[in-house]
Amino acid sequence: MYAQVETVVDLDAIAHNVRILREFAGDAAVMAVVKADGYNHGAVEVAKAALAAGAAEIGVTAIAEGVQLRAAGITAPILSWLNDSDADYAAAITADLEIGVSSLSQLRAVEAAARSTGRTATVTFKVDTGLNRNGLSAVEYPQALAELRSLVDEQAVRFRAIFSHLARGDEPEHQTNNLQRDRLLEAIATAKEHGLEPELVHLANSPATLTRPDLAFDLVRPGIAMYGLSPVPELGDFGLRPAMTFQARVVQVKRIAAGEGVSYGHTWIAPRDTTIALIPAGYADGVFRPLSGRFEVWLGGARHPNVGRVCMDQFVVDLGDNAANVQEGDVAVMFGGEAGAPRAEDWAARLDTLNYEVVCSPRGRAARRYLGGPR
Ligand SMILES: *Cc1c(COP(=O)(O)O)cnc(C)c1O
Repeated sequence: MYAQVETVVDLDAIAHNVRILREFAGDAAVMAVVKADGYNHGAVEVAKAALAAGAAEIGVTAIAEGVQLRAAGITAPILSWLNDSDADYAAAITADLEIGVSSLSQLRAVEAAARSTGRTATVTFKVDTGLNRNGLSAVEYPQALAELRSLVDEQAVRFRAIFSHLARGDEPEHQTNNLQRDRLLEAIATAKEHGLEPELVHLANSPATLTRPDLAFDLVRPGIAMYGLSPVPELGDFGLRPAMTFQARVVQVKRIAAGEGVSYGHTWIAPRDTTIALIPAGYADGVFRPLSGRFEVWLGGARHPNVGRVCMDQFVVDLGDNAANVQEGDVAVMFGGEAGAPRAEDWAARLDTLNYEVVCSPRGRAARRYLGGPR
């Protein structure tokens, strides 16, 4: 009935997390960030659950993602902010997407699309306040404002917002956060000198939403926290609930004798007669091979260690004395929010990476299934 390997996404957890984020946001609105197919949770379903729970807007990185959300019936404001040189601004304007502009050349391409479609483009300026990634540079900014001003005057463009992105939001006390706030305030002042008043200003990502209420401005843009993962694990879980569970069904249970090696290279030798279970998920499905021998699954009411190497589409766990509680078809949880189960953070710590990368990993045969959601 269910897939052998699956991610189960709990949309009620998404709704719970949005409600928590709304509390932290105070008077600011919440933009639910669903780039990268909703951090691999499913952009359409997550966006619908987040909007039903009180998020006001949706954020994506690519116009195609926004168009997909419109096609799924989402009518809330959608901002797309990582537009490349192939970006189809005409499609964005037609789908009523708000276009994040990070350079003069992008502004001119949006202008051309507004003229060719004969419709007003909604533009948001992304200003670079110190991340030094995408965003208008201080060099281009005055010229961009001058051109924006005339586009607004002739109603080719509606100027919606100014925003920026933090480099060190996960270090709440770091002075860079203050520096970026100050530069954003300067950018707003400069826009006003050009007669341009944004309808909205925004800066905060998940960590800033949860730890720096002074940076909330008019809107916050949480991503990872909405999926229930802490953006600053050292500071706790903020009451968030992980929405994703990555699990697979045991395909085989067998006895092996002491001294037998398991999986390629026999990197693990059974120290005693034991029982092993075969799990049909491997690195092609998002179980990182460097985790070999370094992670556990929740199976039969207990944690069991992976033994031997993770292969392309399977790995083995040692059941030890708990074999009687496990049979073919049982679900082994690799990570998730269930009590007792390993967490995405456990993988992240062993892999020297972030929970963000861990939830983006399930793929291949991993099917997605949803629980709960707006009714
Ligand atoms: C990804 C992203 C976010 C969300 O970041 P989280 O750390 O997941 O909350 C917010 N704003 C921008 C510009 C982003 O690219």
